[in-house]
Amino acid sequence: MLFPPQTIDGGPRPLAGGFSADAWSRIRFLDGPVCDGCGVPFDYDPGDRCAACLAKPRAFDAARAACLYDETSRDPILKLKHADRLDLAPMFARWLSRTARVLIEEADAIAPVPLHPWRLLRRRYNQAAEIARPLAALTGTPYLPDALVRRRATETQGGKSGSGRRRNVAGAFQVPPPRRPLVEGQRVLLVDDVRTTGATLEACARALKAAGASGVDVLTLAMVVRPLSLRQKDNRHASARR
Ligand SMILES: [Zn+2]
Repeated sequence: MLFPPQTIDGGPRPLAGGFSADAWSRIRFLDGPVCDGCGVPFDYDPGDRCAACLAKPRAFDAARAACLYDETSRDPILKLKHADRLDLAPMFARWLSRTARVLIEEADAIAPVPLHPWRLLRRRYNQAAEIARPLAALTGTPYLPDALVRRRATETQGGKSGSGRRRNVAGAFQVPPPRRPLVEGQRVLLVDDVRTTGATLEACARALKAAGASGVDVLTLAMVVRPLSLRQKDNRHASARR
């Protein structure tokens, strides 16, 4: 009573996870029609698959995200990652289960994007695993915490361009030979917190497919969606190079 509950975002009356109702209501969930390939919402880019997916097939089969990564969703997601707010993880797992019912039904197993052991030591937990594990439990899907390993430490992806990000993570992931039977012939659902360019998730998907996975889908809490004008420009560059 001496210390009334405080909201993290400074708004009135804390609701779930210490955020105010107003903060939650501003999160832009991607529960409308989305691109079949990458999960981008159709109000940005109408069609069956968006122009970017048509121009360049990805290493994963389909991707979905629960919400847009923006100034509203960034705060709770970074708190999970850097501020020990593991109490937010079960709620994030519920978001994921709502967003990707079909991908989860089709999945034989759920796997998190791994951290390098050094980074795991420093941070003490892998935020991707913290949301993948309760998602697997919630949906009754087998959980593969260590099928995929990061075999070399990569620099942080922050501040890198799309091609810089791809180079940074190329060949960084592997399914160790003794664990190959876990993924052989399996459709794996890869889980991470945020998808920016998707370079990390594509590198993971390649490693899983190289180990014999029959399919790899991707599910993240949030995705970065750039305005259509920027992506059209990218696509023009892509077609000019071909
Ligand atoms: Zn797409």
